[in-house]
Formats: sequence, structure tokens, C-alpha cells
Amino acid sequence: MSLTSEVQKRKQFLLRCYFCKTEYEIDEYGKFYHCQKCGNLLEIVRLGGFRDVAISKEMQGIWKYFELIPLWNSANIVSLSEGGTPLVRCRNLGRQLGLESLYVKFEGLNPTGSFKDRGMTVGISKAKELGYKASMCASTGNTSASLAAYAASAQMRCIVLVPKGKIAMGKMAQAIAFGAEIFQVDGNFDDALRIASEICEKDDKTLLLNSLNPFRIEGQKTVSFEIIEQLGGVMPDCVILPVGNAGNITAAWKGFLEVKQGALNSLFGTNLAHKTPPRMIGVQAGGAAPIAKAFKNGMRDSIEPVLSPHTQASAINIGSTVSWMKSLSAIYDSGGAADAVSDEEIFSGQRLLASTEGLFVEPASATPIAFLVKIAKEKSKEYTRIRDQTVVCICTGNGLKDPNSVLKNVRPDQIQTIPVDSISLEKVLA
Ligand SMILES: [Zn+2]
Repeated sequence: MSLTSEVQKRKQFLLRCYFCKTEYEIDEYGKFYHCQKCGNLLEIVRLGGFRDVAISKEMQGIWKYFELIPLWNSANIVSLSEGGTPLVRCRNLGRQLGLESLYVKFEGLNPTGSFKDRGMTVGISKAKELGYKASMCASTGNTSASLAAYAASAQMRCIVLVPKGKIAMGKMAQAIAFGAEIFQVDGNFDDALRIASEICEKDDKTLLLNSLNPFRIEGQKTVSFEIIEQLGGVMPDCVILPVGNAGNITAAWKGFLEVKQGALNSLFGTNLAHKTPPRMIGVQAGGAAPIAKAFKNGMRDSIEPVLSPHTQASAINIGSTVSWMKSLSAIYDSGGAADAVSDEEIFSGQRLLASTEGLFVEPASATPIAFLVKIAKEKSKEYTRIRDQTVVCICTGNGLKDPNSVLKNVRPDQIQTIPVDSISLEKVLA
């Protein structure tokens, strides 16, 4: 199978309102960010199904799925070799929690240390294809680091808005090093996103690259393709991931649905259509948990935003979830769930994963682990359901981005000072 021509490919994708299904020309994106009729988020759909899609053997990382991504010309790809992250079988942690088959998809090994790179390579490539010279985002940290890197690679202007004093040190250092123009907003992430959106709606020369941008979702959905490939053509039973603005759970679910429709058939020479896609479980921090609360109350058509979100897991310190509608669909349609964990449970989960498996993830990424520890302790119905199943936690960011989260919680006995001789050390170790 060969790659589809540019002209043919343009005909295969459509920009559409997620809610009222009004259709738009895909290359018009950026002149508006929401449905012109009802104001809801836009999504990209592939027309004509997924039969006979070629998966490239020459391209690397997420771009081997080029046929499934709405970029017309491969010459516009701006890539730092994102994707292809390891799926680690966690035997030690699994044994400790009584889970038969536990995996971590370690997204912290992407080029800038988070899953955002999957979406940003597509977002910036599309920005290049559409002729943009400037990009902007609001960020809790990872998005700004990622956008700044890809904008640098594309030699495009990069403007980032961050909530003042609420960004992990490593992420801020990345954005500075990559040369972004950084503006600290004296408010929270939701305020920063509102300001960035207002500017980009008026200025059609600057593309907004937050997760409401459907091209980002098209890149992020590839995590699901990889998980299935790494499991040897098998759908996992359950996928657990952190939820902030909920772009990632939306994207991962879209990926699994596309596989069910045949997206990877050419790869396995078999039809995965009869396989049930995984249940999607979203985990939030207790101080910023509008999705978990909506799920608990059985709500699907609205959420109650948290006006002053607060969690030390800064990557998910978001009170007004942008992709709330899409993420609740992912959760309900997959028969999944949403829950919240405390900051204490998050930090404890972070250390547990690191000390049992050698995987150092940032606090937000430890929410799935904290959730598993919690349900294992409670011996909840959920625990009984998944203990013999294939469970994949998507750990979204690298622990090195936020070293303070560990350093400020260090046990006094873990770092000791000793005199300059081996006898003293021998005594302590005995
Ligand atoms: Zn609409």
C-alpha cells in the first residue's frame, strides 16, 4: 500500500462540531476555534472509514501513522522524534497491589518529557502547512515546554501564558531555554487560557495550540495505536490516566475507537473490529476535580467548574475543564469511571512507582497509581473487576520536570551526613 496523494487526503478529513455536527473546511481552522453555530469544541473526523490504511515503515514515532493524521504534505512535518515511548510491564508494583497484568506507558520519555509532544508535532506541522508564523498557548507547564521546543524547531514565534508561581521549575526552565516569550498571569490556568483564546480569536496570524485545538488531539490519539501494537495487537481492558483539561483522555479514546474501526488492520493483517475497546478511567486531584464530581453525580451534559482549583500536581491544576463534554463521553461510552485522589495519595503513588519499578514520573502522572492503591486498599468493586485484567496507566510526564515535589517530601532518614571515613559509614549501614 502506498501513501495517499495530497489531493485525495484532503478529501478524507473533515472539521466538525462535536456537538451539533456542523461541518467546516479543515484548512479554515484558526480563523475560529469553536463551532460558529453553537460555540462547542470542534473535532476532526476521517471520512470513508479506516479500511486499508497504510502504516509507514519508513517514518518514525507517531509519523508512521501519517495516513491517520490530517496533515496534507509530509514535507511540512516538524518532528523531534516523538512517540515510540516504552510500555513497561510493572511486575513488582502489580504483585504489591494484587494486579495480574499492570503496565505503565511512560510518556515522560518524549523529547520534552511529556505526552504533549505527540500533539504538538502535529499542531506545529499544521501551523506550518497553514502558513502561520506565530503560535500561542496557555499552560500549566508541559504545554509551554512542548510548544516552545517545536516552535523553535519550526523557527516560529512562540508566546506562552502561565499562571504566576504555579509552574514546576523544570518546565519553566525548558520554555526559557527554547526561547519562548513568557507572560505570567496573576491568576490560574483557566484565566490564562481565557486571555490566550481572546487574543488568538482576534489575531488570525497567531495559532492557539491548547488542547482545544483538534490537531493536537489527532497527534495524541497515537498513544493508543502504540499501546495496542506493544501488546501485540490486543486491546487492553482498562486504561487509567490523569485528567486536567481532558484533551488526553479524549484523544486516547478516539485512538481506540479508530482501531476498532480498522485503523491498524493492515499492521496485524487481522480485524480488530470485534475487540472491545478499553474502559477509560480518568483520575483527578481532589482540589481540581470537576470531571470526577460530574461522574459521581451521574452528570453527562454539564460540569460545575471549580473556581479556585488547588493541587500541588500542577499539571492538572485546572478547574474549568475545556474538553469536559468529550471526556465525559469517553468515560461513559467506554463503561469507564472517574475518580479523585488527594495530594498526599499522589505523592505517595509517585514514590511507590519510582521505588518499585524505577519509573520517575511527575506528580500529576502518579494519579493513576494513587487510584490503584486506593481501590486496592478499599477492595472496591472496581478493584475486583480489574485485578485479573490488562491495565495500562498512561504516565504523562517525567519526574525530572518537578524535582521539588520529591525533595520537599524527603524522609529525614533517607539522606544522612557522615564524617569523611569509611568506618563511620560501616557503622551506619550496620
Ligand atoms: Zn455546533
